[in-house]
Amino acid sequence: MRESKVKKQERAEEITTRLRALYPDSKCSLNYKSAHELLVATILSAQCTDHRVNIVTKDLFQKYRTPTDFAYCSVTDLAKDIHSCGYHNQKAKSIQGSSLKIVEEHDEIVPGSLNELVALPGVGRKTANCVLGEIYNVPSMVIDTHMIRIMGLLNFTKTKDAKQIELEMMGIFKEKDWVNLTHLIIDHGRAVCIARRPQCGDCVLVDLCPSSSV
Ligand code: SF4
Repeated sequence: MRESKVKKQERAEEITTRLRALYPDSKCSLNYKSAHELLVATILSAQCTDHRVNIVTKDLFQKYRTPTDFAYCSVTDLAKDIHSCGYHNQKAKSIQGSSLKIVEEHDEIVPGSLNELVALPGVGRKTANCVLGEIYNVPSMVIDTHMIRIMGLLNFTKTKDAKQIELEMMGIFKEKDWVNLTHLIIDHGRAVCIARRPQCGDCVLVDLCPSSSV
């Protein structure tokens, strides 16, 4: 039977409440001390674990201290410095290119609007929404692989297209929960709703999840 939008919103609210009780300290697991460091860390996190990114950025942010340091660096050297994150050549180009634009067009300040952020080389909606939510407190939602998978399991979406999911979830979850929701879902995806072996028997969402196996 088709679930009404109101019922979906009620289920979403209860899911958020339960996950927040389960993961009260849920937050972005990337280490950063500035908007630009978060931008760099988020670019590095594509197809890489946050744990690995944090290991790499510990030294990286000592060597490159400002957007200007990244903007005028050797891309070849930068690629070597971030090698263990994977896709290092592409990521080095994105980090250098976006830093250059930030220095030359934005006075070294990471812009605070979606349109300006996605106009930076190598910056997509995921990175942009992460910066907007974490730094500028703009209600925004990061759609990563955990969000795509678990929102599908919860029957809140039928698509795997990240932008479409972002727009659909904004209609279901309350605006005040958007930023935190991704962190809650990532924590749940790591601890319980694990990709290849969801632990439905131990899941606090079992009665709210149409994909539950118990
Ligand atoms: S009930 Fe199972 S499939 Fe649904 S969210 Fe929990 S672990 Fe995932």
